[in-house]
Amino acid sequence: MRVFAVAEHRRGELNPISIELLNLANSIKGDGTSEAIVIGSDVSAYAEELAKYADKVWKIEDESLAEYNPELYVDVLMQLFSKEKPDIVLVGNTAMGSEFAPYLASKLNAPVVTDAVGVDVSNGIKVSRYIFQGKLMVDVLLREADTYVITIRQGVFKEEQEASGGIVDAGIKPSVTPSRQFVGFVEPEVGEVDISQADIIVSVGRGIEDASNIELAEELASLLGGVVAGSRPVIDNGWLPKDRQVGISGKTVKPKLYLALGISGAFQHIMGMKDSELIIAVNKDPEAPIFGVAHYGVVGDIFEIVPELVEKLREAKG
Ligand SMILES: Cc1cc2nc3c(=O)[nH]c(=O)nc-3n(C[C@H](O)[C@H](O)[C@H](O)COP(=O)(O)OP(=O)(O)OC[C@H]3O[C@@H](n4cnc5c(N)ncnc54)[C@H](O)[C@@H]3O)c2cc1C
Repeated sequence: MRVFAVAEHRRGELNPISIELLNLANSIKGDGTSEAIVIGSDVSAYAEELAKYADKVWKIEDESLAEYNPELYVDVLMQLFSKEKPDIVLVGNTAMGSEFAPYLASKLNAPVVTDAVGVDVSNGIKVSRYIFQGKLMVDVLLREADTYVITIRQGVFKEEQEASGGIVDAGIKPSVTPSRQFVGFVEPEVGEVDISQADIIVSVGRGIEDASNIELAEELASLLGGVVAGSRPVIDNGWLPKDRQVGISGKTVKPKLYLALGISGAFQHIMGMKDSELIIAVNKDPEAPIFGVAHYGVVGDIFEIVPELVEKLREAKG
């Protein structure tokens, strides 16, 4: 199977979802190929990075592609696909991908499934995704088609499979004049920490009680070399910025260590962190549902346990 992954970049940085798409492509391609497509004005550096994880990288370069534009993206992708037929096109379920993937699918007359967290190609194309705000997971069996378009949730396919693909200049230029023009870029507020990429997360819930206590979690996180995140009430109360929220209406994380402090474990939260490699929960309620997903649970008061832990870590670090 030829599995194409449309890479994403912005402001000079390759979005890690690009590699995640290739991780998935490599795991489902069978005897086929994983092929990355990178679009922009000067994409050589991105292409080199992508080539470490793809069997082939297609570069599509033109000055007019310097900034993302859905009409131009779909135009150049359709030109490539008219020559190089994809079986599956993987796109990040990001703001960018969510915009152009359905448009691309309609041009390809392909079925599209969004926000996938699993793709099984052993018997037809079966895609797993959550519905009803994460309460249920469904397996969607796609109708047979020449090509399928699937957008992938960020932070799910992190297991890397190295490759050493060649880089090919597709020699494609946009053939349409877009009806929309790029005007300018507005930097989002804060955003200095991307919790979906962190290896260690110290996550706090309503049990932290007050904004002033976040400092305690910050101290623990810094000693562990991690970052602080939170459950929705913590964000709603303004104790942490919105981009630190874990859960269905926040981010999906898959760190090596997820330390849940004073978090009850509502399913909306669990959906965003249950695939973490190691989950340790501290909660004073032995019945808290978080213990159902935690690998290790401590029934106790975070205001006793965390300062002690901080002390021990400080001692260990000298
Ligand atoms: C549409 C929708 C989307 C949502 N999206 C999200 C989402 O993305 N992320 C999310 O997190 N939530 C989300 N929620 C909210 C979710 O339902 C829960 O309300 C929320 O996760 C609860 O957060 P919490 O565990 O911090 O608070 P609580 O449920 O109030 O739990 C606090 C926990 O702290 C423990 N505790 C208190 N004091 C201490 C102490 N001193 N030491 C140890 N333990 C202590 C308590 O025993 C309790 O278990 C969503 C809800 C809806 C309806």
